[in-house]
Amino acid sequence: MRIFSKRRGQGKSFLNHGAAPFDFIPTACYVRIPSSTSMPTEQDIRTALGHVRYPGFSRDILSFGLVKEIQVDAASGNVVVELSLATRDPNIPRLIHEQAMDVLKAVPGVRDVKLNFDIKDPPGSVATAADKLGKASIPGVKRVIAVGSGKGGVGKSTVASNLAVALSSSGLRVGLCDCDLYGPSIAHMFGTDERPYQNDEQQIVPIEKNGLQLMSMGFLLEDSSPVIVRGPIATRYTQQFLRQVAWDNLDVLVLDLPPGTGDIQLTIVQTVALDGAVIVTTPQEIALIDARKAVSMFQKVNVPILGIIENMSYFLCPGDGQVYHIFGKGGGEHEAKRLGVPLLGQIPIEMNVRECGDEGHPIALEDPAKSAASKAFRDIAAQLRQ
Ligand code: ADP
Repeated sequence: MRIFSKRRGQGKSFLNHGAAPFDFIPTACYVRIPSSTSMPTEQDIRTALGHVRYPGFSRDILSFGLVKEIQVDAASGNVVVELSLATRDPNIPRLIHEQAMDVLKAVPGVRDVKLNFDIKDPPGSVATAADKLGKASIPGVKRVIAVGSGKGGVGKSTVASNLAVALSSSGLRVGLCDCDLYGPSIAHMFGTDERPYQNDEQQIVPIEKNGLQLMSMGFLLEDSSPVIVRGPIATRYTQQFLRQVAWDNLDVLVLDLPPGTGDIQLTIVQTVALDGAVIVTTPQEIALIDARKAVSMFQKVNVPILGIIENMSYFLCPGDGQVYHIFGKGGGEHEAKRLGVPLLGQIPIEMNVRECGDEGHPIALEDPAKSAASKAFRDIAAQLRQ
């Protein structure tokens, strides 16, 4: 067995460079599997590879489209598989290699296996971020910031909406895109049921509200229709959606990611050249455990973590003027220190935040002198502008 690793564009193997960031790769090792009388077919190999998971995710490498070619010499039992992946993490090809060898060795009739890895830089990686300075990776957009959370219910969409409003109040041209196919909420948060239209170039034109350009999968769905797309189709739909929006000269696009760290999130962070990500969490440990998963997802694809936003940090009781830490205290700050990233802000629990969200009028539109939450969002926006 021999494994090659090369980055597209360079066309050379790391083995030739001696640079070897993927130093698990043996230069020429050979695996011979005990002979068997059956003859393997391409379908056998495909079925076996369908059991190889992308490390850290539930989906397999076939459905992710990583397997580019399979060659099977049935008579000799020799198998060659070409794989292409976008990562800077050497553990990813190593783990895929280990799993793939295990399953392919078990296919009756297979004798020699060769896995050729073509490894590209992921979009938004440290190297490409420098390369794309001054360029727009999504047409019409200068800078893309993703808002993620390890799980739902921590106020991620509330934070994404208000952050977009606060950035816009600071004088930037801002867009907000809700990528949550299964629970889009931006349409609701901005109190609009307007549907976007398609222009002559077959692009979807965002709707305008409160000076923002808004796009949401929710705009494209019927109110009561259940979303039945799953797995690879959902992923393809999301990719297509992201490429087809006609953003008009944005300084910043805020991407409201779906909650969690599954396949759709991975696709988005791999296919969009993100300039950075902010992680929303509530202060208690159980939420922080999930926030760490989100951080590690972004780190895997070299998206810089711009900071943590702690939501529902405290409640200032209007009755007695006391501060109550309903979900605990200090979790966001502790996590930010541990990761070496800024704690961008702490958003209080305010009845107004929920009411404004429900009324389609994000709290950050309010005078910051009258709302601690609005002020917190403005302060966070000021930090992200720098
Ligand atoms: P997620 O996107 O993480 O699932 P949402 O943004 O939809 O969470 O928020 C869930 C609920 O919590 C919404 O009703 C929202 O108005 C409310 N909420 C979020 N943040 C706050 C806050 N700081 N104060 C009061 N209510 C909040």
